Amino acid sequence: MSDTTLAERPSSTMPPALENYVGGAWCPPAVPEAIEDRNPATGELIGRVPLCGAADVDAAVSAARAAWPAWRATSPLVRARALFRLREVLDEHREELAWLVTRDMGKTFVDAFAEVGRGIESVEAATAIAHLLKGENLEGVARGVDVELVRQPVGVVAAITPFNFPAMIPLWFLPFAIGAGNTFVLKPSEQDPVTSQRLMELIGGIDEIPAGVVNLVHGAHDAVDALLDHPGVNAISFVGSAATARYIYQRAAENGKRVQALGGAKNSMVIMPDADPQLFVGGVVGSAFGAAGQRCLAGSVAVLVGTEAEQDATRDAIVAAASKLRTGDGADPATDVCPLISPANRERLEREIEQARVEGAHIVLDGRRAGGPGGAELGPTVIDRPSEHSRVLREELFGPVLGLVRVPDLESAIDWTNQSRYGNSAILFTSSARAAREFRYGIEAGMIGVNIGVAAPIAWFPLAGWKGSIDGDLHANGRDAIEFYTRKKVVTERWN
Ligand code: NAD
Repeated sequence: MSDTTLAERPSSTMPPALENYVGGAWCPPAVPEAIEDRNPATGELIGRVPLCGAADVDAAVSAARAAWPAWRATSPLVRARALFRLREVLDEHREELAWLVTRDMGKTFVDAFAEVGRGIESVEAATAIAHLLKGENLEGVARGVDVELVRQPVGVVAAITPFNFPAMIPLWFLPFAIGAGNTFVLKPSEQDPVTSQRLMELIGGIDEIPAGVVNLVHGAHDAVDALLDHPGVNAISFVGSAATARYIYQRAAENGKRVQALGGAKNSMVIMPDADPQLFVGGVVGSAFGAAGQRCLAGSVAVLVGTEAEQDATRDAIVAAASKLRTGDGADPATDVCPLISPANRERLEREIEQARVEGAHIVLDGRRAGGPGGAELGPTVIDRPSEHSRVLREELFGPVLGLVRVPDLESAIDWTNQSRYGNSAILFTSSARAAREFRYGIEAGMIGVNIGVAAPIAWFPLAGWKGSIDGDLHANGRDAIEFYTRKKVVTERWN
């Protein structure tokens, strides 16, 4: 058991070897293998992340199973009070958690602070759990016969989360899962797990959440496979890239588990000639380059609508604004564009930009640079006239790279957007209500923004990706979370 909390450890001390949180105690992992977790802005070694496997996963799942009967039997009102307490604790530590996000994932502090706020909102939405869990009934379906539907928790839920929102995405799942009476095992991204570690420390201090209700196991593929195969896990909530989502969905389903697997995206932003520049310039630039494009709701294609002169004017306005953005350490208040999660990702993105250039695209803003102190910086990049099948237009690159497409009218813009195999989000900038209506009706994507660059639903609504952006039927947050984390039981009774 560690004697200092992560937040108290000065960054100059030897980096802590991260531990698992199992049954209310910190446990050294059963495996010797570990990888380094570094601050992407500075290269500072933050921690050593154990690559746990079946033994550590079994310990965490066993703790969750042992805690389940009593937690399930706890009144929903009492579980709601535990969530109210969690909300207060997170709010008290919001700034500290945001600094951890900045240090570990790299995004700017302002962005990280907003991220933690979004996570807190999921807890707030889940505090209504007693109301959300209420069932249905219908009396007198036959003489003396009444029917009642009740919702019961599914059991042990495991969440496997990505690097890009290390505070928010675990909190999409945790509050709804435990609020509904399940127990929980989190496997955070091995690239930036420190925020999750701190989250567990904070939860450990909340008496209303008993030991074993929430557990943490570190690791990468082996830990994930062990969770997918463990018979004690009833449901899997996953967020990550599309390829991993498909793998998780298939393997978990084969093992008879309930699974929601939220995957990658390629989001278009359609800009009509009548769009208000005050709205679209900031909206497009913030969406494409905020968090260095490492958001599932980032717009990475701008569809310029109109005549060639109108398209050029839109392009020039975007490029002028993007070229003013400052790239650097997210801890520096002057920074607009943070580093990528790792130097390897910068190198990958640079290869993608070069490939587009070789295919004949015009790199109208080139963000390639030395990489900064941590080797992970890439400035905003805008690529005009990429070839029709360029990866810049079709694949999620997950970096500050914006491809431009030119079409004559809204209908062509909708057609172009709907060709994507993804369907997370689509954005329209316009002054026309008629265009907005046509767009929201015809677009095949689940999260639509009109004059909004990042159309992230608040936690009372689902993260409603479509097509290749989700494997499974039920999304994170909102009513879907209750549907996913409960089983329905229908009781038909006769009392003469
Ligand atoms: P990722 O798929 O590499 O990793 C996600 C999780 O899966 C991690 O915990 C990782 O350890 C695990 N994992 C990765 N490869 C695995 C494998 N082969 N076998 C077993 N487990 C594996 O994703 P990432 O790079 O951390 O996150 C970025 C991706 O997440 C982007 O594609 C982004 O669009 C997506 N994302 C989607 C949403 C959404 O709501 N749809 C939200 C945020 C992020």
